[in-house]
Amino acid sequence: MEDLEKKVAELQKELDHAKRRNKTLKNRIRRMEEETKKLVEELDTKEALESVLAEERDDVCPDCGSELMVFNFPNGKGVTKCKRMPVCKYTKPLK
Ligand SMILES: [Zn+2]
Repeated sequence: MEDLEKKVAELQKELDHAKRRNKTLKNRIRRMEEETKKLVEELDTKEALESVLAEERDDVCPDCGSELMVFNFPNGKGVTKCKRMPVCKYTKPLK
């Protein structure tokens, strides 16, 4: 009988240990999840920022950095030209 009580006590101790370990692991997993979430959000922000920057860069002449002007032709087509034309020859057809 005493042996059994001893065994139960040992098992409970093990169980407590396992529970503590489990809690630690859970906390670690939660921290990792939070970190991952933060990284993903950062990445999203970075991508959004990069796309905005790409758009802004698109409004500037890649040859000289001046502003671009859009010319719309009556046939529905258009072209983007550099404000410094004809000094700068940059021309890009509109999509
Ligand atoms: Zn230019």
